[in-house]
Amino acid sequence: MSDTEKRTALVYAECAEGALRRVALEALGAARRLAGDGGSVHAVVVGGGASAAALGTAAAELAARGAEVVHVVDDPALAGFAPEAYAAAIGAAIAAVQPSIIVLGHTAAGRELAPRVAAAVNGGHIADVTAVDVDDDGGAAAIFTRPLYAGKAFEQRRFLPGAPQVITVRPNNLPVAEPVAPGSEGTIAALAYSAPPLWTIVRDVVRKASGRIDLAEADIIVSGGRGVRSAEGFAPLEELAAVVGGAVGASRGACDAGYCDYSLQIGQTGKTVTPKLYIACGISGAIQHLAGMSQSRVIVAINKDPDAPIFGVADYGIVGDLFDVVPLLTEQFRAILQKPGP
Ligand SMILES: Cc1cc2nc3c(=O)[nH]c(=O)nc-3n(C[C@H](O)[C@H](O)[C@H](O)COP(=O)(O)OP(=O)(O)OC[C@H]3O[C@@H](n4cnc5c(N)ncnc54)[C@H](O)[C@@H]3O)c2cc1C
Repeated sequence: MSDTEKRTALVYAECAEGALRRVALEALGAARRLAGDGGSVHAVVVGGGASAAALGTAAAELAARGAEVVHVVDDPALAGFAPEAYAAAIGAAIAAVQPSIIVLGHTAAGRELAPRVAAAVNGGHIADVTAVDVDDDGGAAAIFTRPLYAGKAFEQRRFLPGAPQVITVRPNNLPVAEPVAPGSEGTIAALAYSAPPLWTIVRDVVRKASGRIDLAEADIIVSGGRGVRSAEGFAPLEELAAVVGGAVGASRGACDAGYCDYSLQIGQTGKTVTPKLYIACGISGAIQHLAGMSQSRVIVAINKDPDAPIFGVADYGIVGDLFDVVPLLTEQFRAILQKPGP
């Protein structure tokens, strides 16, 4: 694609159990910026089976937020996440739209799909984008920022003109697409696809974190480390999280000690999170933990040890026993937010 051509972007709008994930709206916002005023933005939603009814709601939201056409691929075979099948469904949308830019969320599914999509279109791929800088010419010379070395440094990349561009955007970093003016919403269209032979089949999904706020998309995270001392030690953290409407996370130290499930682990080998507020309780601040949370907007650390490395990245540090400090914080938040007591 030359720099002067009209840009068409396609968003893979990821749903979880039929409901649109927030990162899908962030991807749509990025796509709208990248396409620029003269360009067009399409979205594709994929699913089937029990979640099929919700796809329509997801599609309507995308259309109301600036997707010119939302392509709905609804097939019982897509009820569970099968990478080959989902990539084929996105491929059907690519064939229909011929996009020059394809945007996905940098989620577990997005990470699996993006390289397949990039290979299928013979395009370039930039993963884990945390910022998009677009020139006034409509985005032809977009510069993508992504973290390196577990967040210790950032690099800026751009695509060479000519090949389709595939990016994944890190959740919670880019603004969501705002609704468009009434009357200018996009249209919704069913899209057929042919199911490919599957090399892998998901037989069962075990939801260890069901009912919890998704860590990757949480605005507030209260996280516990080995300093919580036991599974019961997480109770004050759960209570604080409930009062502020946040999620509970953990260090690997806490997971390894059996205080909580590995689905809560944040860090290099756990989840990457970027909440507005991260409260680290009894976490020393090992480099592998910082890799997953140092991009949080405001970091509060509670630790008995004034020399704990976590204070090096914290915006606010409280030197003290978490079992004294956390209940005090909960009480204060309860009063400020006018939440009833236990
Ligand atoms: C290859 C590899 C990958 C890894 N990936 C990850 C990862 O993804 N995520 C991760 O977190 N770690 C990861 N680790 C492990 C990491 O190196 C640390 O071991 C781990 O983060 C330590 O967890 P912690 O801070 O909870 O425990 P500790 O380092 O033991 O720290 C506990 C802290 O709690 C404080 N404390 C104790 N009691 C209290 C109290 N009552 N009140 C307040 N403070 C208290 C102590 O002062 C101490 O600072 C990885 C390691 C390796 C080698």
